[in-house]
Amino acid sequence: MLSANLKKESARTLKYRHPWIFSGAIKSIKGTPKSGESLEVSSEEGEILGYGSYSPKSKIAIRMWSFSEKEKLDEELIRKRITDAVSFRLKSDLFKKSDCCRLIFAEADGIPGLIVDKFADYLVCQFLFAGVEFWKAAIVAILNDIVPNKGIYERSDVEIREKEGLPLLTGVLSGSEPPDLLEINEGTIKYHIDIKNGHKTGFYLDQGINRLRVALHAKDAEVLDCFTYTGGFSIAAIKGGASKVTSVDSSAPAIEALRKNVELNGLDVAKCELVEAKVAEQLRKYRDQARQFDLIILDPPKFIYDRAHLEQATRAYKDINLLAIKLLRKNGILASFSCSQPMTEELFQKMVSYAAVDANKSVQILEKLNQSPDHPIALNFPESAYLKGLICRVF
Ligand code: SAH
Repeated sequence: MLSANLKKESARTLKYRHPWIFSGAIKSIKGTPKSGESLEVSSEEGEILGYGSYSPKSKIAIRMWSFSEKEKLDEELIRKRITDAVSFRLKSDLFKKSDCCRLIFAEADGIPGLIVDKFADYLVCQFLFAGVEFWKAAIVAILNDIVPNKGIYERSDVEIREKEGLPLLTGVLSGSEPPDLLEINEGTIKYHIDIKNGHKTGFYLDQGINRLRVALHAKDAEVLDCFTYTGGFSIAAIKGGASKVTSVDSSAPAIEALRKNVELNGLDVAKCELVEAKVAEQLRKYRDQARQFDLIILDPPKFIYDRAHLEQATRAYKDINLLAIKLLRKNGILASFSCSQPMTEELFQKMVSYAAVDANKSVQILEKLNQSPDHPIALNFPESAYLKGLICRVF
């Protein structure tokens, strides 16, 4: 069997069950594994520590699937992991009110690099690393066995695959092609999503629970939803009783999709002001016009991918948070998010507190938010925590 022998210190840290092994941690490799092939991983003394997938092009050379000699990386293990992850979601009351859900969240579900989202009758997959690419046919067959669906679509058009030396791929993996616009429901809200061309796998499922929390502050409020995309927070706010919602995004197709989603839900389009603009510029415009709001949502895209740019990104976050805090009426609500993984909860909170000081306002945290529970955070893999948010009262 193909195997990798780890250096002493690395073997010790593997006991904490973090699934990534960097190339520098490997002492020797027996055999010539191809991209994505499975390896037995052992300590210098020859103790078998578990099994992982090989990524020859990546700095992270091995991703571990198991931490026991008994759990070999084979189709049986993959079936067990997929079944565990999927049945937890499908059985839990947490997800019963929606027909969409993240079924598999990669390392956090013990399946390094595999994302599977369910949208109505379709599944959308991302195969991020060489290991799951290698097992793709088996994974698709297992999904078809355990999740009834009309089609499985691949959205492996993500940059991270380039680091693995894998091509960017999209297309039907089995069943029928999803329609250009697919209707889904998240609780009582309906959305048309575009699986084939939308962001990520077509929809930001990770904000599902947070949209409902934020909407609790929308009653009779004048709302500003920044980085609205197809209107997740905007529609939740209108449903929550907002008197008016101004939605800002730099993407014209996203704004158009938002307008259609408002109509799809039978809501009053007259309550919506749709603005195609860059958020920081638009916030400055509102500041110059002395315009005020009762609830402001900031849900920007990832500002950073690595720690090297953390300081620069923190400044960008602070800039929009400062502007937003200044635009709020007394006792207004700021719902501020960051989906940048390297930005910790602690740093995020500090950033908002510095913005509050500069704005000369008092700010209380009413609620701390994370990604929705279909994106669980594995304790052995802190990197799975990436989305954080604060709902704050500003006065
Ligand atoms: N709040 C959304 C998800 C936001 S995703 C939801 O709940 O579904 C981030 C969005 O920010 C994308 O729609 C992207 O088009 C938009 N965006 C990126 N940079 C921007 C900028 N500088 N100004 C305005 N919008 C921007």
